[in-house]
Amino acid sequence: MNKIYLDHSATTRTDEDVASAMLEYMTDNFGNPSSIHSFGRSARKPVEEAREKIAQAIGAEPNEIIFTSGGTEADNLAVRGVAYANKKRGNHIITSSIEHHAVLDSCKALEREGFQVTYLPVDEYGMVNPDDVRNALTDQTILVSVMHANNEVGTIQPIKEIGAVARENGVFFHSDTVQSIGKIPVNVNELNIDLLSVSAHKFYGPKGIGCLYMRKGVRMLPISFGGSQERKRRPGTLNVPGIIGFGLAIEKAVKSQPEQASSQALLRDKLIKELTNKIDYVKLNGHPTERLPNNVNLSFQFIEGESLLLSLDMKGIAASSGSACTSGSLDPSHVLLALGLSHEIAHGSLRLTLGKDNTEAEIDYVIQVLPEIVEKLRAMSPLYANRGKAGHQSKECCLNV
Ligand SMILES: *Cc1c(COP(=O)(O)O)cnc(C)c1O
Repeated sequence: MNKIYLDHSATTRTDEDVASAMLEYMTDNFGNPSSIHSFGRSARKPVEEAREKIAQAIGAEPNEIIFTSGGTEADNLAVRGVAYANKKRGNHIITSSIEHHAVLDSCKALEREGFQVTYLPVDEYGMVNPDDVRNALTDQTILVSVMHANNEVGTIQPIKEIGAVARENGVFFHSDTVQSIGKIPVNVNELNIDLLSVSAHKFYGPKGIGCLYMRKGVRMLPISFGGSQERKRRPGTLNVPGIIGFGLAIEKAVKSQPEQASSQALLRDKLIKELTNKIDYVKLNGHPTERLPNNVNLSFQFIEGESLLLSLDMKGIAASSGSACTSGSLDPSHVLLALGLSHEIAHGSLRLTLGKDNTEAEIDYVIQVLPEIVEKLRAMSPLYANRGKAGHQSKECCLNV
């Protein structure tokens, strides 16, 4: 069997049509869209057409789209840009404890500059309660930032309700929709969103390009300086090939969204059902129903997610775990801890994220191989050998599916 890629929340393979559409804008049509001459003009037109496609995909106007280098920069620009522009009105921001680090670390940076941030808790499924948002509001609140769908556990937030709370109180509302675009419907008007972050490489577009949607009337200051591109809101020569690819990728992703959501949800549910049937001491993380159609996140007690990943990799299966191994530490994910998981359970977690090219045969292979790997790893685990002893939970301890 060929290698099986189940890490689509980390990045996706660029669509062939998208990649070939981009090539022209590196070679024949290489102009800088800010130039006055014909080379500039012939790059400018397709950029503006891509902007229109992107706006249309989320129910926005083209002049509300600001191109960025991706989701991280869009999150930074939204959180910090709105904070700086509205400092005179207030210094308080509300966000959740399970945001992407691009939002969390932007908030932490603002705290060092005198802003106050409330990090709302989530329930055991990773859900933010809109009433908690309401109760956290003060006369100093200028921004609420809550992500649409979580990248680790796939929980979909009640964004529409949270947006309504913000709007009733005259507070701007930002949502990181990097994981939800192309997987569930996203419309800025239906969801009461004022600012939204997008990243093309999460839906078969190229890496290094994304945008911030900013509703007309939102006050935001730039966070970088040096040019008048994007009406001075985000300076720098436009990434023309990236923008062309982004436009085509979002158009395709939104068009195929309903069909992709139903086919991927079938595979997701098969994985969850079979793996939790075949393996003991396993727990589904995230919400049982309000969940991205492509996300499976399971915790296996008595083993380390890292060992699981290595064993799966040897079998040709690419997945992701819940600990931040990349940062050099073995701290469990802030998201899993916020859901109330113990460090031990959080360490044994595995994220499988589906994409448009995964087949049922691949899923069947994972269902066959993963229980064998778990059994092998547990056979080497002293924790597993001692599981019956005092202090350890029963077999169904952490089973909530
Ligand atoms: C991937 C991701 C980002 C970062 O996007 P980049 O384009 O890779 O910078 C931000 N938020 C969420 C929820 C993500 O999944």
